[in-house]
Amino acid sequence: MSAAVQGGSFVIPETMRAWVLDDPGDLRLTEKLVPQPGPAEVLVRIDAIAFCDGDIRIITRGPPALIEGGLPFNKNFTPGHEYMGRVVKLGPGVDEFAIGDRVAVEVHFGCGRCERCRAGMYTSCLNYGMNYGAHNKGHRANGFTTDGGFADYAVNNVNTLVHVPDNVGDEEATLIVTAGTAMYALDTLGGLIAGQSLCITGPGAIGLMGVAVGKALGAQPVILTGTRDSRLNLGRQLGADHVVNINSENPVEAVKRITGGKGVHYVMECSGNPNGLNDGMDMVMRGGRICMIGFANQPVSVDVAKLVRNHIAVFGIRGEGRSATHRASALFAQRRFDAKLIHTHTFKMDDVPTAFKYSRDRIDGAIKVVVKMRDA
Ligand SMILES: [Zn+2]
Ligand SMILES: [Zn+2]
Repeated sequence: MSAAVQGGSFVIPETMRAWVLDDPGDLRLTEKLVPQPGPAEVLVRIDAIAFCDGDIRIITRGPPALIEGGLPFNKNFTPGHEYMGRVVKLGPGVDEFAIGDRVAVEVHFGCGRCERCRAGMYTSCLNYGMNYGAHNKGHRANGFTTDGGFADYAVNNVNTLVHVPDNVGDEEATLIVTAGTAMYALDTLGGLIAGQSLCITGPGAIGLMGVAVGKALGAQPVILTGTRDSRLNLGRQLGADHVVNINSENPVEAVKRITGGKGVHYVMECSGNPNGLNDGMDMVMRGGRICMIGFANQPVSVDVAKLVRNHIAVFGIRGEGRSATHRASALFAQRRFDAKLIHTHTFKMDDVPTAFKYSRDRIDGAIKVVVKMRDA
């Protein structure tokens, strides 16, 4: 960080470049007014942003974005939520961050007044999307219910910001929020403690971060299942003790073999496979826990009696609550794993639609596709 930037001031224009979502799948570059930070907010100059499966779903189908109570199409809405950049302007009363600070963001800023927010579960805010007109409860989820990061600037509440460690680059920092979701699944919601066993099904970005975070938290063994050897090899590099290609071995039998017939303490279902929960119930030991992260695209049939008999807890997850991004960022700072391994492609601001296609179609083995918003 140069002295000129630290504590210095940034020239902020009145208008900025921003991508907006027109019809499904249709992104357009336009100009918007630069938003102004209110109390407890800062203006972030966006330097890098990654595409996430959530963005693909929003851009192609709409949900889970919710803009003014409905679908996000043709509302001048800017998607994108996995971004990082620099604080360039402070709202009134903000002293938690300084001009020039490098920050990554978490998505959810709850209303602070509903039952869930008051219990600290702000990613499950009961006023999700309530931020307009007569329905303004102050909820924000950038790239979901408020403007996101495929733009030059975005306003963020200070509670959604985490300092980026100096030894972490811009592209890598966009992955802090991904690791934060894995962290929330494993430590807060899952209650994982060192020495417990973990199976992660599906080596997508969150699954791979789940491997890395689980290993850093002391899980033993960490098992990763999937269909592509290249992804499984990445899983090994990120800390998986065992990888299982389900095209050559039944994943349930593999988990039983590896654990001496016992099964694992935790399953993180990241594949979205319609049979993922049933398989998870066969992989987990009695009294175990299954976190459902992948989205099955259709309703699925589940052996509920097995779930009851075996005292299995199944839970969904929304985002990266309980300051999980801060804990994830600490692991980045400590170099506990190399998140850069899952960053595969980089594009420029002008090429967001191409970056979207690479991410959606996994062109050229794409995992995390990052857009650098500014020319170096
Ligand atoms: Zn995401
Ligand atoms: Zn709330």
